[in-house]
Amino acid sequence: MNAVLRPGHVQLRVLDLEESVHFYREVLGLVESGRDAQGRVYMKTWAERDHSSVIMREAPTPGLDALAFKVRSPAALAQLEASLQAAGVSCTRIAAGDLLATGERVQFRLPSGHVIELYAHKDAASTGAALIDPPLWDADSEQGIAVQRLDHCVLYGPALDEVRDLFTGTLGFFLTERALAQDGVADFGVWLSTSSRPCDIVLVRHVDAGKLHHVSFRVGSTEQVLKAADCFSMARMQIDAGPFRDPATGRFSVQAFDPSGIRIEVFFSSHDAYPDQAPITWRWKKGGAAMTLRDQRTRDRLFPDLT
Ligand code: FE
Repeated sequence: MNAVLRPGHVQLRVLDLEESVHFYREVLGLVESGRDAQGRVYMKTWAERDHSSVIMREAPTPGLDALAFKVRSPAALAQLEASLQAAGVSCTRIAAGDLLATGERVQFRLPSGHVIELYAHKDAASTGAALIDPPLWDADSEQGIAVQRLDHCVLYGPALDEVRDLFTGTLGFFLTERALAQDGVADFGVWLSTSSRPCDIVLVRHVDAGKLHHVSFRVGSTEQVLKAADCFSMARMQIDAGPFRDPATGRFSVQAFDPSGIRIEVFFSSHDAYPDQAPITWRWKKGGAAMTLRDQRTRDRLFPDLT
């Protein structure tokens, strides 16, 4: 197992904090796990064992403040920090406790403009599934879409090659899929994994720095993706795409906008990823699409609304 374990939390800027908390709790089914002196709200899925996976603050423009990955240990954190600095990436240490229940974080900015953080410790959750004789589910676990866990983010920005190489070379990720640009050589998008999942982060080439396409949550079946579409619709949230089958990573997915216009994905995939497997390549198709959907329509929006 790699030193970087998984995406641990996203820090989001939202337009109206209470409206967002309502959406993430009632529609997605997250549980509120804390609020801090700065007014930030911490949430998690019912099943996640750590304190928080979604941290929100109110701001005039919506978007991603940071994507944080949990690493195996404090020693792994120090090792990764040293490796990043050796690769020319300047890192900042943020004190333990700056985020509720979260240990020291190592923060750095990708050449794509995104802020990434690494941390080794987060307190165990006091809400959600019990660890001793846990029930399979209960009323709290079945709220709304009832997402199981934060899965990945899709980020748009420049300097894709450098960012890809930083993840694969320094952070120990491996490439699972790639979509080629129009020249048939350069990468237009890359799917990177640090686990057995098809992607823990996806990066897409884009002229503007630091953009977020979506934050993704996993559910346990394709039926639950259909239910997610129902829940988005019943909550009057705008569905952006799906439910659809995406050839890349084999996801069955639905994407909708949260109250701030941040795109949220709910998906199910049974695909696995292993570091010894060669990556899948998606060739550029007519109309500028990076891949075709199952019905052979090309994707018509390569640069959709981003936050
Ligand atoms: Fe996704």
